Amino acid sequence: MARIVMKFGGTSVADIARIRNVARHVKREVDAGHEVAVVVSAMAGKTNELVGWVQGMPKATGASSPFFDAREYDAIVASGEQVTSGLLAIALQSMGVNARSWQGWQIPIKTDGAHGAARITDIDGSFLIKRFGEGQVAVVAGFQGIAPDNRISTLGRGGSDTSAVAIAAAVKADRCDIYTDVDGVYTTDPRVVPKAKRLDRIAFEEMLEMASLGAKVLQVRSVELAMVHNVRTFVRSSLVDPEAPEMANVEKAGTLICDEEEIVATQMEQQVVTGIAFSKDEAQVSIRRVADKPGIAAAVFGPLAEAHINVDMIVQNVSADGFTDITFTVPNADFERAKAVIETAKGAIDFHDVEGSTDVTKVSVIGIGMRSHAGVAAKAFEALAARGINIRAITTSEIKISFLIDAAYTELAVRPLHSLYGLDS
Ligand code: ADP
Ligand code: ASP
Ligand code: MG
Repeated sequence: MARIVMKFGGTSVADIARIRNVARHVKREVDAGHEVAVVVSAMAGKTNELVGWVQGMPKATGASSPFFDAREYDAIVASGEQVTSGLLAIALQSMGVNARSWQGWQIPIKTDGAHGAARITDIDGSFLIKRFGEGQVAVVAGFQGIAPDNRISTLGRGGSDTSAVAIAAAVKADRCDIYTDVDGVYTTDPRVVPKAKRLDRIAFEEMLEMASLGAKVLQVRSVELAMVHNVRTFVRSSLVDPEAPEMANVEKAGTLICDEEEIVATQMEQQVVTGIAFSKDEAQVSIRRVADKPGIAAAVFGPLAEAHINVDMIVQNVSADGFTDITFTVPNADFERAKAVIETAKGAIDFHDVEGSTDVTKVSVIGIGMRSHAGVAAKAFEALAARGINIRAITTSEIKISFLIDAAYTELAVRPLHSLYGLDS
């Protein structure tokens, strides 16, 4: 007997037929004698619809902030998960499974007060462990918790993954199964590169890079939690026959996210590159003809930090004539604000003009094997050059290389890189 947390994403619970299919997945594990808790997302598209409604509302009279009240945002957008948890509990009951829905505040899943992007601070596992003892399948609404102000909070988009892993850690589950619309983690997004290959295993560190560099198959925070609490996490598909024989063997029907050692032990020779991620959620800002003198970087990046704008890639050239260009990237949503911050700081920075583009993509090549192999970046530069793709910025770390390119060339860049590093299926 094992203790399992099963999480189902939006496409898995998109309609009543799919919810019934999910119930059959849950029943399979219950019938096998396991203790099961379930975490659900809202129906596909529901959260977007709710967010759209909030954004369409006029702001409060006299409000100084251009943003809506984040506490009310949470009260509204958390409702999608409330619906699916109740529907799944009913579907399970109709199949003779003892099930009950629970909202975040009832467990409780405690979070900090950052409404809209809250972090889980504490889950007392005893509530759910008691449910296991009663033979009940608890169906928990994902994405939501309760903040110190006693109000509903949400964990940021994609947050149900984090709910599931945090619950798995709190109840000391043997594993956390993340069910989605693909049957595992692939070498790159299988919807963009048809030759993408499913990985049997991927190391926590690699998955963390993949997720934070654009592979939205798991929320970044869920991978962090899985790594810190050593939760055995599998990514697998819900859109298959729940009773298919291979579904009984999780090792064969999904991707395990685990410690590097566990992977090394199963491979003769380590793969240098594990995957390629890309993100169109980037914007490039370039400041032209900046006076090249000490203190300039501080004058540029200080005000951006004060405005809570996350800067990612930074490129600055060595100047010949006392002037330089500084290029950096920010999240797409902060593009206009970042340019405004720089314009405002013009007196302190001393530059000619500031420009930029949101039509850029960050492509990243990821693999723990890079630590011990040289020449990984050089290969990519050659491949991109051969296709006439200009690289606007580069950053590297021990296990990844990222390039910023024109968005129009995303697929033209990702597909050959995928072949070049031997990832094609
Ligand atoms: P859910 O609603 O179940 O949470 P998501 O849409 O958040 O599902 O995540 C699943 C999607 O992630 C897939 O449909 C796939 O297009 C995308 N994806 C991006 N990169 C990868 C990758 N490397 N491996 C698998 N899926 C990926
Ligand atoms: N429903 C939420 C979202 O769409 C949470 C999730 O699906 O994980 O972001
Ligand atoms: Mg998701």
